[in-house]
Amino acid sequence: MSKPSEKNQATAGAAKPTPVKKATAAKKTAAKKTAVTKKATAATKKAAATNKAAPAKQAAATKQAAPAKKATAPAKTKTKAKAKPESHASLVRRARRINRELAEVYSYAHPELDFENPFELLVATVLSAQTTDLRVNQTTPRLFAAYPTPEDLAAANPEEVEELIRPTGFFRAKTKSIMGLAAALRDNHGGEVPGRIEDLVKLPGVGRKTAFVVLGNAFGVPGITVDTHFGRLVRRWKWTEETDPVKVEAAIADLFPKSEWTMLSHRVIFHGRRICHSRKPACGACPIAGLCPSYGEGETDPEKAKKLLKYEMGGLPGQRLKPPPDYPGKAAPPLGAA
Ligand code: SF4
Repeated sequence: MSKPSEKNQATAGAAKPTPVKKATAAKKTAAKKTAVTKKATAATKKAAATNKAAPAKQAAATKQAAPAKKATAPAKTKTKAKAKPESHASLVRRARRINRELAEVYSYAHPELDFENPFELLVATVLSAQTTDLRVNQTTPRLFAAYPTPEDLAAANPEEVEELIRPTGFFRAKTKSIMGLAAALRDNHGGEVPGRIEDLVKLPGVGRKTAFVVLGNAFGVPGITVDTHFGRLVRRWKWTEETDPVKVEAAIADLFPKSEWTMLSHRVIFHGRRICHSRKPACGACPIAGLCPSYGEGETDPEKAKKLLKYEMGGLPGQRLKPPPDYPGKAAPPLGAA
């Protein structure tokens, strides 16, 4: 996650569908009906098959989308064209296809912080810097029970707040941030969280990432959340080579309609946390392996890769103590529980 203070830091054209396509469609339908682990496994098998056939499929897709001149070009020219950088239109198609696949796999994607209102989401997001959402979710129930409103938190004894949020790490700096933002909400916004990015980023400890999380999930304003997972995955997928979060955000915003931004962010982050890990991506168990230019960067053996899966994908509890009703995994345990 970010530093303690973010401020510091086609098949329509085919006259005769082939049996293979029918089989793939049937597989997809079957996969939808199964439980999440089975779904991931089925999708992985499909992806593995797709991966073998990827060059041919991609070439076919390029032919369909390319102008007639290119589609009828001789083999030699086609080979040469393959070496060219991917066109923007082709990148958009590929990126949107990955997003569609992720939407099937993570139909239940959601923010992984527990919250009841915009104030709780704002505070929880600030606390999530340099720690897991799980640890924040295990910490905030006591904090919000003691200080349910900005007014309450702004008037708190800092030492008591420090003690309550200690499990999230950097508790002194975080206490300053959340008490500072609570005071700013009380003094400048009538005790309410503002719904505009310009106002949110002026609050202590609130940067663009935190602001977009709040806007997207508490106000329904589309936003792209570039955290460590999102940045890593979009570079693995060659959606962008940028490393600066603001530039990543702009590059990805250019590939998708605004209406997709918030859910795209959740899906990508879900995938990064469960399958496409930083050090050991589970390529052999990845449902979008056939679409990924970085396939093979991690473990490709299906059995070994399966052991790397996390949260509901690995049959383990999730990060939220109060997950949404459609979450297929188990709720996280409270702090200190076995
Ligand atoms: S790097 Fe591996 S795990 Fe990550 S998206 Fe690509 S195939 Fe999947």
